Amino acid sequence: MQNNFSLAIHGGAGTLLKGQMTPEKEAAYKNALQVALDTGYSILEQKGTSLDAVEAAVKILEDSPLFNAGKGSVFTAEGTHEMDAAIMEGKELKAGAVSLITGIKNPVRLARDVMEKSEHVFLAGTGAMEFAKEHHHDILSSDYFYDELRYQQWQALKGSDSFQLDHSAKKDSKFGTVGAVACDVFGTVAAATSTGGMTNKKWGRVGDSPMIGSGNYANNKTCAVSCTGSGEFFIRGVVAYDVSCLMEYKEMSLSEAASEVIMHRVLKLGGDGGLIAVDAQGNIAMPFNTEGMYRGLKTSTGESKISIYKE
Ligand code: ASP
Repeated sequence: MQNNFSLAIHGGAGTLLKGQMTPEKEAAYKNALQVALDTGYSILEQKGTSLDAVEAAVKILEDSPLFNAGKGSVFTAEGTHEMDAAIMEGKELKAGAVSLITGIKNPVRLARDVMEKSEHVFLAGTGAMEFAKEHHHDILSSDYFYDELRYQQWQALKGSDSFQLDHSAKKDSKFGTVGAVACDVFGTVAAATSTGGMTNKKWGRVGDSPMIGSGNYANNKTCAVSCTGSGEFFIRGVVAYDVSCLMEYKEMSLSEAASEVIMHRVLKLGGDGGLIAVDAQGNIAMPFNTEGMYRGLKTSTGESKISIYKE
């Protein structure tokens, strides 16, 4: 056992432009992030696993209408909600992911079931839904996922070929993918990521979030990473794994590797966003190249913080 453990969470990069954020909205976001952070952290504090901690934290964010995951998922071009999620642990490199699922209250839980109760890593669409039913996941009606603001965001794009990142800074857009990374007292790291994707998406569009190595990755040799941002670029940059590779092969520290990827490599490709990462010693990095990123961290060394904008 080691002494240090820590947890970091995010609720999406981008965020409301500073001028459009009201004190009430800010308090609501911070409150939701705090509940998720405290819940995940208390698991680590009781010597629970990083896997349990990241799942618990992400579940809480999925249950909040404020973030683009679970309950708050954005509308697709067909007016439905298609969600993606992934979870991974760094000791044995076990992973589970789901994509294009509908009606599932907690996609992260389903991803974990794929990891633990199937021979597979990644299930999508109708097959993933069958698996969900077999494993007794409640399938909720679309009413549960309805949100007036999300509906209006979709109406603005409906019928067009445009799709929009929920947190694109160009418009009054906000919310985002959610994720958590943790290091437990056993020195095992884990990452979980969950999203509704992009408003007005079609053709079975899948982003980086459920793709192991792109939006989510964990390896005890290096770190655990959960990403948020323009998914197409994060896929092409294999972002989460790139952070791990820079640590493993170039011997960079966690913060050097995370900054190199977000502040240089992703930007060079034309993408924007951020990530949260933790190494097996419990150090945390949370770089982003957008106006802000909903985020929080809590460590056994006494640090505890929720932030939205740059500091
Ligand atoms: N990365 C996610 C996607 O492209 C979106 C987000 O981070 O909000 O699906």
